[in-house]
Amino acid sequence: MSELKNKEYTKAEWLSEGERLFGKNFEDYKFVCPRCKRINTGREFKDAGAEPNAMYCECIGRYDKTKGCDWAAYGLFDICTVHVDGHPVFEFADGENSHES
Ligand SMILES: [Zn+2]
Repeated sequence: MSELKNKEYTKAEWLSEGERLFGKNFEDYKFVCPRCKRINTGREFKDAGAEPNAMYCECIGRYDKTKGCDWAAYGLFDICTVHVDGHPVFEFADGENSHES
């Protein structure tokens, strides 16, 4: 169970945090869906034929019905704890509180 911790980034801060956690390859990035808590990877989005850029604002279930859910960060309800320049995004999967994987 992840505790709620709200984070606000500027786009530059967020991009450098992503690079610190996952490097430069966007396919290696992982984000946690705030609704189903599934960890979605950029590679899965690519494999599903989706924009890898969608991984931080859409759950994989929108592209692969066998996984995750159909949540989108830009929908009517904002349940995201992370915001970049005020826009809701999914949380990085390897944040400072989740070193187990
Ligand atoms: Zn989901």
